[in-house]
Amino acid sequence: MRVLGIETTCDETAAAIVSVERSGESKILSNEVLSQIAAHAAYGGVVPEIAARAHVEAIDRIIARAFASAGLKPGDIDAVAAAAGPGLVGGVMVGLTAGKAIALATGKPFIAVNHLEAHALTARLTDDLAFPYLLLLVSGGHTQLLAVRGVGDYLKLGGTIDDAVGEAFDKIAKMLALPYPGGPSVEREAAKGDPERFDFPRPLQGRANPDFSLSGLKTAVRLVAERIAPLSDNDVADLCASFQAAIVDVMVDRTRAGLRACRDAGITPSTLVVAGGVAANQAIRGGLMRLATEAGLPMVAPPLELCGDNGAMIAWAGLERLRLGLVDDMAAVARPRWPLDALSPKPATAA
Ligand code: ATP
Ligand code: MG
Ligand code: FE
Repeated sequence: MRVLGIETTCDETAAAIVSVERSGESKILSNEVLSQIAAHAAYGGVVPEIAARAHVEAIDRIIARAFASAGLKPGDIDAVAAAAGPGLVGGVMVGLTAGKAIALATGKPFIAVNHLEAHALTARLTDDLAFPYLLLLVSGGHTQLLAVRGVGDYLKLGGTIDDAVGEAFDKIAKMLALPYPGGPSVEREAAKGDPERFDFPRPLQGRANPDFSLSGLKTAVRLVAERIAPLSDNDVADLCASFQAAIVDVMVDRTRAGLRACRDAGITPSTLVVAGGVAANQAIRGGLMRLATEAGLPMVAPPLELCGDNGAMIAWAGLERLRLGLVDDMAAVARPRWPLDALSPKPATAA
């Protein structure tokens, strides 16, 4: 079973082909990602109109490359999956339309994938991971704790009441004039700095509700940066290290509350999973590893190249849906917002 996956919800134009063999073994046959980082760098963030145009310019080439590097032709796949949201709707429409066109031309089933579900299921592409599991989903636009009970079956336990974690990293980077995207820049600087120099707040620490709040932490970093300006290279490194240390503590504390909430809901998770672009952060992975050990659970995080947006995660979510018979029709629409807990394991139709 082979599925083509197309991703255009943000600033990566991506296409990939993923397969499951008869033995049950899953494989990534190709995974092509074209990042638009250079196009957005000057603005310190993603500009929706520039992103949509860049997707239009790149989409044909990226899909052709996904087939070429897998050594396959369009007729060789069993289904086409495209991310239908949530995301920047101009970009989503580009990938969604390309996916529908290939499905129509080849006569294969089409699957409109929720981008967050793709992040949520990615760990099952590379690991033998059983439902239910507790998921910390941390990305540019989302920060949530979810009990993943099955494909299309998510119980949201908590989420951020203000900024997403990736957004906080990006804003701190912009504030400190570090290169876009902010997450990797802040992590790089943090490695050189002193995590104890500044004692930043750990918002909501100890609360039973597994929610997050990050805007106060961001403001605290800004106030210290303004107080000690002009900033030396060491100051920047220490600010990043101290900020990242606070983030790790918050992620660990909130996920601990998530574990409790999960069990209170009568769900015994098999595993602690972290996914989304921010899951690439080694300090956060380390903190969650310690929490998993404390809780007596295994911890799984996708390989680094599958944390940020990519086509393989869309193809994989499509494949998981296809084998349950969950396919969509050509009426599937692009959705700027599409919460995971609104998904149904039943076949989706247009909203
Ligand atoms: P969403 O998935 O919520 O729709 P998105 O697709 O834009 O948003 P992702 O591509 O999943 O987000 O993740 C990108 C985010 O991850 C950015 O905010 C980026 O700064 C952050 N990020 C990437 N690498 C790291 C890292 N090493 N440490 C911290 N944050 C990181
Ligand atoms: Mg991106
Ligand atoms: Fe994403």
